[in-house]
Amino acid sequence: MGKYEINELYASHALHLRFLITPNGTKEIYDAVSQCSRCGYCETVCPTYVISRRETLSPRGRNQIVRQLIEGKFRPGPDASYESLKTCLLCGACTNVCYGKVATGDIVLEARRETTGYGKSPVYKLVIKLKRNKALFAAAVKFLYLLKKAGLAALSEKLGIFYFLGMPALGEAQKKLFRAPLTFLREKLEKRAPPPETATLKWVYFASCGIDYIFTEVGLATVKLLEEIYGPGVFMKNECCGLISYNYGSLADARASALKNIKLFEGLRTRHKKFRIVGDCSSCVAFLKSYPQLFSGEEELLKRAEEFAGNVSDITELIKPEHLAGRFDPEKTQKNRVTIHDSCRACHGQGIREQQREVLRPVLGKNLVEMKESDMCCGGAGAYAFTNPRISARILARKTENISKTRADIVIASSTSCLMQIESGLREMYPSARIMHYSEYLVSIMKKKA
Ligand code: SF4
Ligand code: SF4
Repeated sequence: MGKYEINELYASHALHLRFLITPNGTKEIYDAVSQCSRCGYCETVCPTYVISRRETLSPRGRNQIVRQLIEGKFRPGPDASYESLKTCLLCGACTNVCYGKVATGDIVLEARRETTGYGKSPVYKLVIKLKRNKALFAAAVKFLYLLKKAGLAALSEKLGIFYFLGMPALGEAQKKLFRAPLTFLREKLEKRAPPPETATLKWVYFASCGIDYIFTEVGLATVKLLEEIYGPGVFMKNECCGLISYNYGSLADARASALKNIKLFEGLRTRHKKFRIVGDCSSCVAFLKSYPQLFSGEEELLKRAEEFAGNVSDITELIKPEHLAGRFDPEKTQKNRVTIHDSCRACHGQGIREQQREVLRPVLGKNLVEMKESDMCCGGAGAYAFTNPRISARILARKTENISKTRADIVIASSTSCLMQIESGLREMYPSARIMHYSEYLVSIMKKKA
């Protein structure tokens, strides 16, 4: 098989991105992967390589596999190449340290789209079908939560029913789900009184699915911070950002979600001149910022996606030390030792590293402690912990050990998958500490209003 034969597969724009928008410019997949010089500089930061020491589980190995796939040296299939592609966390740590800024995560994802099973999972198909109707989806999630509360999910897992049904990932997911709220964030936010018609909106809150359906208290904390710091704003009543479809299913579904969110933004823009779209799950926010890549090569849509992405912010980058000066309760700030886990899509995906420390350092002083490898993935990585449970558990064990060495009482993170994953690690290996989202932690140490 020749190079161009297989390149035709990658040229299918229904299945693949037309171009990758990389730090080195817009590139076709083959050009992007060809930038890897095989120097190996990235290996020490790649979690799957660090725990396995296997070349096929390193960024360099993955890039060589994708390159050979494109060159038609072998076909994707259930072999070492499949394992190599499937186990990439898409964390972006490698790109961050790479001199050539090779976008290995994006490259791997494009190759994964060729592998058997991509987008064909029955769980994915069911979720996407249900998600088209928000009320139906919410009812289905609540029903599952009731089953969980009744202990049926754990029982099904013990009896191997999820495996029998060909949905082992669901069994893994239910083990890490420690919250099952029966009122979702969306319902709470929609009940709030709207700001006066004449108010100038400074922010529009984007509710990620994980925050909406699991970590509702995080969304409430973020909205509270935004109101305190920036004044009036509204809930965007947004669609899912599309990341689930982008990573596990169909590009068409991801584009459809993106377009709906872009239209919502444009609608709001006709009435309000200037505001930021603010989210509090760094994975989703990083994806919102990357919308232009979904429409690369389509001039008009690309422009609209760029306008949208240029107005997106992660809550972790919006809070400055001066915003909350004098508003913290010293008794609360001196009670606990705190460490920060840098969620991958905050630090590698958006370059957010120092902002949280700049806010917390003057407040916490010596109670802010740094952990080793704070920016190494925890193994959560979206649904990775459910689809690659063994390797994810080893990465989590390393993260939990690093946390325990700091003797911290509280770990701060900013992505929902990190919140779920680290909570499961702490419960099992270091139960004296708990995980909190950055917004939630800030609200918890603020003075009560008189
Ligand atoms: S991805 Fe970058 S750092 Fe890693 S081997 Fe290739 S060129 Fe070197
Ligand atoms: S994206 Fe993360 S897991 Fe994948 S190759 Fe890069 S560092 Fe390794």
